Amino acid sequence: MPGIYIHIPFCKQACHYCNFHFSTSLKHKEEMVAAILRELELRKDYLSNKNITSIYFGGGTPSLLTSNELDQILDKIYNIFKVEHDAEITLEANPDDLTKEKLQALRQTPINRLSIGIQSFAEEDLKFMNRAHNATEAKLCIENALDAGFENLTVDLIYGSPTTNDAQWESNIQTIIDYDIPHISCYALTVEPKTALYHFVKVGKAPAIDEEQAARQFEILIQLLTNQGYEHYEISNFAKPGWYAKHNSSYWFGEPYLGIGPAAFV
Ligand code: SF4
Repeated sequence: MPGIYIHIPFCKQACHYCNFHFSTSLKHKEEMVAAILRELELRKDYLSNKNITSIYFGGGTPSLLTSNELDQILDKIYNIFKVEHDAEITLEANPDDLTKEKLQALRQTPINRLSIGIQSFAEEDLKFMNRAHNATEAKLCIENALDAGFENLTVDLIYGSPTTNDAQWESNIQTIIDYDIPHISCYALTVEPKTALYHFVKVGKAPAIDEEQAARQFEILIQLLTNQGYEHYEISNFAKPGWYAKHNSSYWFGEPYLGIGPAAFV
């Protein structure tokens, strides 16, 4: 199940906990797309005799690219590689980018799966994390995506934040269950060096992470989702039967993949 990962290193604003590779300036976006097209050409012999079963746009925030820019990259991939007709093609997207218009445009591309970085449905959590979206957009983007015809959705949530009590965490999970989202990835909030959160904890502006709270919320997660028929198929990932992520699964099976763009690794 060989795949291609494309890293899009741009974000609207820096989430306080994030240590991924990204820039909040979009000044070089066009140049970056041109460089990605060039890198695909240069790496065309890697995986050349294999069928590609998944393409994954990660970041950063790939939904900051226009559908035209995404199409240019996908056209190049289809021209160079043998992509299977039922390949899983995922775009990581942030809620504030997923307007009705954007989703209609994305439906015209080969992208058939959205990975939405919701993290929480609570305003207090989103503000603490410095996310670019608000609680209203967190729900609206799911409704817009379903209305536009995207069935293959996965949502990211974060637990263990000092702002997230157990009741709020249960409510976040229940919202995903109520929307019948087939796949969910959940991560414990961690304090990484050189992030704003690291600084806040160091100077006492934010409390240290409570590991017992995080462990308890992980257990709540497992219980609520498995009770609803989700399979806990990887530490952070849960899916309804038949909805496992092809791309991420291929990493865990040690399948080859081609990483394109700066910091193009999982
Ligand atoms: S949107 Fe994602 S990649 Fe960008 S700063 Fe936030 S967590 Fe990091």
